[in-house]
Amino acid sequence: MAMAIDGYECTVCGDCEPVCPTGSIVFRDDHYAIEADSCNECTDVGEPRCLGVCPVDFCIQPLDD
Ligand code: SF4
Ligand code: SF4
Repeated sequence: MAMAIDGYECTVCGDCEPVCPTGSIVFRDDHYAIEADSCNECTDVGEPRCLGVCPVDFCIQPLDD
Protein backbone atom coordinates (compact mmCIF):
# COMPACT_ATOMS: atom_id res chain seq x y z
CA MET A 1 0.00 0.00 0.00
CA ALA A 2 1.06 3.58 -0.59
CA MET A 3 -0.18 7.11 -0.28
CA ALA A 4 -0.65 9.45 -3.23
CA ILE A 5 -0.78 13.23 -3.75
CA ASP A 6 -3.69 14.76 -5.62
CA GLY A 7 -2.03 17.16 -8.02
CA TYR A 8 -5.14 19.30 -8.25
CA GLU A 9 -5.24 19.89 -4.49
CA CYS A 10 -1.50 20.22 -3.79
CA THR A 11 -0.27 23.78 -3.31
CA VAL A 12 3.37 22.73 -3.77
CA CYS A 13 4.24 24.04 -0.31
CA GLY A 14 6.83 21.32 0.18
CA ASP A 15 6.01 20.60 3.83
CA CYS A 16 5.60 16.89 3.25
CA GLU A 17 8.90 16.17 1.55
CA PRO A 18 11.28 16.48 4.55
CA VAL A 19 9.16 14.36 6.91
CA CYS A 20 9.13 11.26 4.73
CA PRO A 21 11.45 8.64 6.24
CA THR A 22 11.70 6.63 3.04
CA GLY A 23 12.48 9.48 0.64
CA SER A 24 9.37 8.67 -1.32
CA ILE A 25 8.16 12.24 -1.85
CA VAL A 26 9.80 13.74 -4.89
CA PHE A 27 9.51 17.05 -6.73
CA ARG A 28 9.31 16.34 -10.40
CA ASP A 29 7.88 18.23 -13.36
CA ASP A 30 6.73 21.14 -11.18
CA HIS A 31 4.79 19.08 -8.66
CA TYR A 32 5.24 16.73 -5.74
CA ALA A 33 4.54 13.05 -6.08
CA ILE A 34 4.85 9.95 -3.91
CA GLU A 35 6.75 6.99 -5.25
CA ALA A 36 4.47 4.05 -4.59
CA ASP A 37 7.24 1.48 -4.70
CA SER A 38 8.98 2.84 -1.62
CA CYS A 39 6.16 4.45 0.40
CA ASN A 40 5.29 2.15 3.29
CA GLU A 41 2.51 4.38 4.69
CA CYS A 42 4.73 4.96 7.73
CA THR A 43 3.67 1.70 9.27
CA ASP A 44 6.34 2.19 11.95
CA VAL A 45 4.33 5.00 13.54
CA GLY A 46 0.88 3.84 12.47
CA GLU A 47 -0.11 6.82 10.35
CA PRO A 48 1.38 8.63 7.36
CA ARG A 49 3.70 11.45 8.43
CA CYS A 50 3.04 13.34 5.19
CA LEU A 51 -0.67 13.34 5.92
CA GLY A 52 0.01 14.82 9.34
CA VAL A 53 1.83 17.87 8.00
CA CYS A 54 -0.10 18.56 4.79
CA PRO A 55 -2.22 21.71 5.25
CA VAL A 56 -4.68 20.76 2.54
CA ASP A 57 -7.56 18.43 3.39
CA PHE A 58 -7.87 15.41 1.12
CA CYS A 59 -4.66 16.25 -0.76
CA ILE A 60 -2.87 13.09 0.35
CA GLN A 61 -4.91 9.92 0.25
CA PRO A 62 -4.36 6.19 -0.09
CA LEU A 63 -3.42 5.25 -3.62
CA ASP A 64 -6.23 3.49 -5.40
CA ASP A 65 -5.32 -0.06 -6.28
S1 SF4 B 1 3.14 7.73 4.05
FE1 SF4 B 1 5.16 7.92 5.04
S2 SF4 B 1 6.53 6.77 3.67
FE2 SF4 B 1 4.68 7.23 2.49
S3 SF4 B 1 5.10 9.17 1.43
FE3 SF4 B 1 4.05 9.68 3.36
S4 SF4 B 1 5.72 10.09 4.80
FE4 SF4 B 1 6.61 8.95 3.08
S1 SF4 C 1 2.28 19.12 2.16
FE1 SF4 C 1 0.45 18.76 0.89
S2 SF4 C 1 0.14 20.68 -0.23
FE2 SF4 C 1 2.24 20.72 0.57
S3 SF4 C 1 3.52 19.86 -1.10
FE3 SF4 C 1 2.95 18.16 0.26
S4 SF4 C 1 1.10 17.27 -0.68
FE4 SF4 C 1 1.37 19.34 -1.53
